[in-house]
Amino acid sequence: MLVANWKMNGSSALVNKWIEGVNSSIPEQIQSRCVFCPPTCFLYQASNLIKERDLKISLGAQDIDPISKTGLTGGISGFMLKELGCKYVIIGHSERRMHYKERNSLLIKKLLAAASEDLKIIFCIGESLQDKDAGKTYNTLKKQLEVISKVENAKLIIAYEPVWAIGSNNPAEPAYIEEVHNGISEELKSLKINELLGIMYGGSVKMDSAKQILSLNNVDGLLIGGASLNEAEFSNIALSSSA
Ligand code: PGA
Repeated sequence: MLVANWKMNGSSALVNKWIEGVNSSIPEQIQSRCVFCPPTCFLYQASNLIKERDLKISLGAQDIDPISKTGLTGGISGFMLKELGCKYVIIGHSERRMHYKERNSLLIKKLLAAASEDLKIIFCIGESLQDKDAGKTYNTLKKQLEVISKVENAKLIIAYEPVWAIGSNNPAEPAYIEEVHNGISEELKSLKINELLGIMYGGSVKMDSAKQILSLNNVDGLLIGGASLNEAEFSNIALSSSA
């Protein structure tokens, strides 16, 4: 699975261009393994374009609010995301953990909100450089993973994104990715998970690294930020990783 995480980038014109480009470059069978996560304000446009052109790519949101009732000014609920055509939602991205201080107590509520609407959850975990240097990678990942056992009925994809690799132009070394993914896979066996859809890697994935990372043991997909903004690069990653 390949997920395009646009973060707070893009425009209405770029959504059009991107969907046209992806539609003409990626065959349907590969499209069905791709998830497009533009900013919330472009989900409606993207959803309509996907329907009009009968694309097989799925739509995902980059965040969800934990309260499903009406009393949250500015909130976007799981129900609303579904109305917009989303099948997936990203929860726990390190940028939100860092800038909005999203902690386990809030993330559990977001996970519950997504699971109650049957959205597939891309749950991000990852260690900081400080944790890595202090030999605390697995401690951090274990603590981040604890929350998922509190959520029944979740359909989960774990996205391992070492914080130090995100947006750095340098993905983690393949041997390191494989070692950590094997560790995550072991840890997940001890947790109660309703449905595990895979473990993805994210952090500066580009055309030149995608295929090798995807070939690693326990790597089932890629979460792609910067490189996903360019429809040609994203399409090439999708094509090469399926070759
Ligand atoms: P990046 O972002 O590919 O630009 O490093 C990945 C992510 O944060 O999801």
